[in-house]
Amino acid sequence: MSYASWAIRFVASLDGIITVLSGMSNIQQMEDNISYMKDFKPLNEEEQRIIQEAQRIIGHSATIPCTACHYCVDGCPKQIRIPDIFSAMNKEIGNGQAEEAKTAYFNAAAEGHRASDCIECRQCERACPQHLSITNNLKTAAKMFEN
Ligand code: SF4
Ligand code: SF4
Repeated sequence: MSYASWAIRFVASLDGIITVLSGMSNIQQMEDNISYMKDFKPLNEEEQRIIQEAQRIIGHSATIPCTACHYCVDGCPKQIRIPDIFSAMNKEIGNGQAEEAKTAYFNAAAEGHRASDCIECRQCERACPQHLSITNNLKTAAKMFEN
């Protein structure tokens, strides 16, 4: 089952829900959604338990909960690729992949667009639907990768 299917079925299983909106980017995602919503079956007890366990694990994770929506990116005066930088950080924080993380960081953060180039205007934080402390996380990224 896809990650999206777990999320959509979780919401659709809640009392009082008549519509679940799903952002889809391609035909495969649409077909996936149709496959389990056509003859919808609410989550069973075992599936509910699995979701609770996943919530517990994610809640204890120190990774940055960025959804890569990119809402923060367009208005950044320094054109910092914020979600790509957070993705690089999560490689190290979540999986201990220090080398891969560093490579991903320097692929995402060209000269002049590095985490340390942030001027703390906080335009990105106003746009972030997850209310992430982007500037603080960028300071951490600069310490992690640029020293
Ligand atoms: S606070 Fe930093 S990352 Fe955010 S928009 Fe301003 S310069 Fe870009
Ligand atoms: S707006 Fe927030 S959640 Fe979306 S990509 Fe930017 S940091 Fe991540």
